[in-house]
Amino acid sequence: MKNRIETFRGSEHFRLNHIADSVIAAIAIPGTGSLGNAAIIDLGDTTVVVDTFSTIQAAEDLKAAAEYLTGNPVSYVINTHWHSDHTSGNQVFIPTAQIISTSTTREIMDSFSRDRLTKYKENMDQMYQAIDELEEQIQQETDEKLKREMAWENASDREFMKMLPNLVHSLPTITFDQLMTIHGSNRSIQLITFGGGHTQSDAIVYIPEDKIAVTGDLVLSKHHPVLTHANPQEWLNILEQVELLDVETIVPGHGEVCSLHELHEVKGYITNIMKIVTEAVQSNRSIDEIEVPKEYHDWYFTTYFKTNLSKVHAMITKLED
Ligand SMILES: [Zn+2]
Repeated sequence: MKNRIETFRGSEHFRLNHIADSVIAAIAIPGTGSLGNAAIIDLGDTTVVVDTFSTIQAAEDLKAAAEYLTGNPVSYVINTHWHSDHTSGNQVFIPTAQIISTSTTREIMDSFSRDRLTKYKENMDQMYQAIDELEEQIQQETDEKLKREMAWENASDREFMKMLPNLVHSLPTITFDQLMTIHGSNRSIQLITFGGGHTQSDAIVYIPEDKIAVTGDLVLSKHHPVLTHANPQEWLNILEQVELLDVETIVPGHGEVCSLHELHEVKGYITNIMKIVTEAVQSNRSIDEIEVPKEYHDWYFTTYFKTNLSKVHAMITKLED
C-alpha cells in the first residue's frame, strides 16, 4: 500500500501514515470533519476499516482511500466504541460492508445515541446558537493554545452541523462479546473487548503479526483522555490487559501513531486525576481552582481536564453518600 499513498488524491480530513504493509493509519486533521482517527487494514483479499470519523464527507474520503490503497472494496467496518466521532460515517460503507461492534456498543447506539441524534436534529437552531457563542468566547480567549483548540472545536462542530440533516443513524450489523477473528489471505486480525473503560464497552483491533493495536480512545497520544462516559478503574484494568498483548505500535483514538509509552502516560493521567480529586475531597477543597498539571501543558483537549475532574468528583462523592 505504501507507494500508493503518494498517488492518492489526498483528503483535507486526514493524513495517511503507513505503519506496516497491512496497516495505514488515517490521522485526523484538527478542525475538519474527522475529529477521531481511523485505520485501514489490508488482509490481502479483504479490506477492513476501523472507525468512521465524525462526518459523512470525511468517511467518504476514508472509503476512497481504503479502496484505492488496497484495490478492494471495504468488507468490514469496526466501531471501537459508540462515540459519534468514531461512528458517524458508518452509512457511507453500507451496504457493501458489514459493520462490527461489541453487542453493548450496538445496544447503546440503538438507544442512547439514536435518541441523542434525534434531539440534535430537532434542536439545530439552539446548536448553532451554542456554536456562535463559542465563537464569541474564542475572540476573547487570551491563551493562544486554548484559543487554537477552541477554534478547531468550533470548526469541527460546524462541519458536523452541515452534514447533520443527511446523517442516517447506521447500526452495526455484526456483534461480538469477547473475541472475534477475521481471517484474510495475508493476515488475520483479532477484535477484542476487555469490557468498558473509556465508554461502557470498548473494543480494540489487534494485528499480532505486525504487533499493532488500534485502540480507539482507550489510548490517546498527547491528548487529555476523555472520561465523560468512563469507568476510570476499569479503564486502568483494561490497559493492563492490552499491555499483556505483544504490541509495539498503537494507532490511538486521537493524536499521532504511538507506542506503549503513550499507553503508560494515559494510565498515569487517569491515576493522577483520581488522586487529585480524592485529595481535594478529603481536604474539603473545591476542584474548581485545580490547574492542569505541568506535564500535560502541551496536551490537546485541554477543556476536558475540568470535565474529567468533575466526572471523577461526582463518582467519588456519590460513593461516599
Ligand atoms: Zn470516544
